[in-house]
Amino acid sequence: MTQSITPSINRDEQARGGLLAPARGLPIDPDAFSLEELQRLLSSDGHYSATPTRNYGLIDPLERPSGLLFLCSCGERPRVERGTPPPKARVQYRPLPAGSESRAYHVACSACGKAAQPSLREWRAVVDWNYTHADSRGGSLAQFPFFNLAGLSRTEAVERLNSIKRDLLLRRALARKQREHGIEVGGRFTAKIEAYLGWVNVALRIATR
Ligand SMILES: [Zn+2]
Repeated sequence: MTQSITPSINRDEQARGGLLAPARGLPIDPDAFSLEELQRLLSSDGHYSATPTRNYGLIDPLERPSGLLFLCSCGERPRVERGTPPPKARVQYRPLPAGSESRAYHVACSACGKAAQPSLREWRAVVDWNYTHADSRGGSLAQFPFFNLAGLSRTEAVERLNSIKRDLLLRRALARKQREHGIEVGGRFTAKIEAYLGWVNVALRIATR
């Protein structure tokens, strides 16, 4: 099965009476749903009306993400680098697979030596850096590169972002369940879901700072 990152939300009448999405908040654990429950939930009218958009903007979060880096807290512009990360980035909450350190990306500031978590995915290294710099260097919501937040109050932005996050979490859970059932799910599709989830969390940090 192939999937687009921005599929139209299915309003199939058969979905009526399915598992209804609460208007707000996130399910306790989307991965706890079965494949059928997730399919029903994602195509339900309740989910459709609770999801503001799947059009997150024109920028592809997987392409040239270094252009989206926030400034360092020292004021200088950091860079994405490859190879063995500096000592400051060695304490990892997400360890790299053994032997992959030389292929990993990390963001570092040559002015002050600050560095962020390494990752085998460049977009993830950028998101990690931006998350930790969202408070001081995240700019305004109007400038945020995703999710069309310009013109929204903080409250409206948080509501929009939480609704988008909920949709993304459910779609990630569906992709995982589909793989468990031997249904092919594109790696780029799941990477985009993960990347957008990362960016949602960066935006939420800016909106709630
Ligand atoms: Zn710096």
